[in-house]
Amino acid sequence: NLEEKIMISREMFLLGSNRSVIREIFEYSKKRAAEIGAENVFDFSIGNPNVPAPEGVHQAVRELLESEDDIYLHGYTSAQGDTGVRNAIAENLNHRFGTDFKAENLYMTCGAAASLKICITALREEGDEFITFTPFFPEYRVFVETAGAKLVPVSTNPDSFQINFERLDEAINEHTKAVIVNSPNNPSGVVFQEETVKKLSEMLKTKAHRYGHPIYLIADEPYRELVYDGTEVPYMTKYYANTLVCYSYSKSLSLPGERIGYILVPDAVDESAMVYAAVCGAGRALGFVCAPSLFQHVIERCVGQVSDLSVYKKNRDLLYNALTEYGYTCIYPDGAFYLFVKALEPDAYAFCEKAKEQELLLVPSDDFGCPGYVRIAYCVTTEQIERALPAFKALAQSYQQA
Ligand code: PLP
Repeated sequence: NLEEKIMISREMFLLGSNRSVIREIFEYSKKRAAEIGAENVFDFSIGNPNVPAPEGVHQAVRELLESEDDIYLHGYTSAQGDTGVRNAIAENLNHRFGTDFKAENLYMTCGAAASLKICITALREEGDEFITFTPFFPEYRVFVETAGAKLVPVSTNPDSFQINFERLDEAINEHTKAVIVNSPNNPSGVVFQEETVKKLSEMLKTKAHRYGHPIYLIADEPYRELVYDGTEVPYMTKYYANTLVCYSYSKSLSLPGERIGYILVPDAVDESAMVYAAVCGAGRALGFVCAPSLFQHVIERCVGQVSDLSVYKKNRDLLYNALTEYGYTCIYPDGAFYLFVKALEPDAYAFCEKAKEQELLLVPSDDFGCPGYVRIAYCVTTEQIERALPAFKALAQSYQQA
């Protein structure tokens, strides 16, 4: 057997050969589109925004490329990122949230994935545990476990996906290094309201005091701006001092392929200079230094802009109303661009196979730590949803008849 003969990391070999379920479906979708035409495949699998980046981004790219200053555009910036963009982001955050951040609190990254991996690596010591809430972004497990720590998923209340504080209370112990919070949530679309954030902060403060060491909050916020109907997303650093924010422009500016985001380490974090140094160290150890230079400069010019979110809201309403009418059950999402729908049979994988017969590509929820559901990414064209509705209806009917 090949695996036994090759002298390489078994852990990395397995990670690389067992692709994520989402990637697997993405590949199937491309294959199926080649067979029957892209318009006949209803791919709801991946969180790739279909709304274009704002015109300001296009303009900034054009202007920058015409400036002909190659070193400025394409040269290395400092490892933690160019001071100009970090100043611009700090000012924007201060303006929006009444905070007092500076360029020195920010570390530019290749998106939220890198931000998370850096933060976990920077904080992790032998025996550490990182808590998160179900359902959660499956890569958390990869990031935490490959850093040599343990991921502890804490299940939420089943009808609302809001935090179950009794379970959280039981899960926190002397090994807890951090709690990873993702609001608005991928895959449920749930937003944690101020009351929840306050309660969470109080519990973490009490526990940190009891165990005599900080418990960090890692706020994974790529969907912060993707909220509907005036929903407010509390800014975590204002409620809990030991908060590190992982941000990305993948969703808010529709730039997932450009790999640009940041980590925020506020001064209020205990020993913040040391934590920031550890972030720089983790960036160095992982080879995540100097985020893409061109897009650092683009962000400096476009900070505060957001893609047109009206399509997502329209898609959410269209899909939610139709699916609930067909008999599906699903929480009404306040943010992000996913519906988390109860599968019509206990095994979500079997349900997704059945959906494939209608050319519907959905993601089973098992890897999100919450079996029995499917994730439907509605960051697609409204037309795709309209064309897919009869397939969703037929799928529901096939269960009603059974
Ligand atoms: N965190 C969550 C919750 C996500 O949904 C994603 C991507 O979909 C990421 C992190 C990674 O985003 P990025 O493209 O910025 O690496």
